[in-house]
Amino acid sequence: MLLSSKAIVLKSFPYSNTSIISRLYTEDYGKVSVMAKGARRPKNPLASTLEPLNGIHVNYFSKESRGLQNLKEANSLYIVKNIREDMHSLTTGLTILDILDHTCIEQDPSPILYRLVTKCVNVLEENPGLYKEIFWFFMLQLAIRSGFKPNLDRCGGCLCTMSECVLDIHTGMLSCRNCISIGDNDLNSPQLQVLKKLNVTHINNLSNIELSDKLSNGITQFLLSFLKIHMLGMEKVKSLKIMDQLL
Ligand SMILES: [Zn+2]
Repeated sequence: MLLSSKAIVLKSFPYSNTSIISRLYTEDYGKVSVMAKGARRPKNPLASTLEPLNGIHVNYFSKESRGLQNLKEANSLYIVKNIREDMHSLTTGLTILDILDHTCIEQDPSPILYRLVTKCVNVLEENPGLYKEIFWFFMLQLAIRSGFKPNLDRCGGCLCTMSECVLDIHTGMLSCRNCISIGDNDLNSPQLQVLKKLNVTHINNLSNIELSDKLSNGITQFLLSFLKIHMLGMEKVKSLKIMDQLL
């Protein structure tokens, strides 16, 4: 069956002397791996089209019993350029793809996740300096879209209004200091305010969130720990270590 969809390229690697295998996240069919025969032959533009982070429109022959599908054609929707020139934004972009790749299963479409990831990549391309805010936005929205919206207002234990919070690693809920006294994954009051603001800010307005380096430390770790508790596959995301050093 010939299928067609918009997609974002998650990963590509060479296969044999002339071909490429690409893992795509398609809008209509979810994650799928395709073989692009001849893509590495000289002057074939497919190789650059199939670089990770790029947006494409694909046609491929799909057979359900097969793990690898045959690419018929791929046309470029957008090419990422600015992200590749900045180490921080490139690491951020690739980590976002890595998280999506490991937390979703093959052929389980989610047009909402597709739109979230492509929007994050496109905003990052326009504003490489906003890599922290975009990464946090992605993690928070991924949790929400996957059904694990954190309650940033009330303690999961006693329901009091929290001014600061600790992540309860047993329940995955945010708790007050009275309910959980020991824990490494905590947010002080200004950090919790950043997350609350992030929660109600449109992705196009992320530059409105004021940040200091002091606040940044800890927020990334907190969100990653939250995702690790709630989402299967997070433990396999290798790029998190690099991301951790970066933020
Ligand atoms: Zn409490």
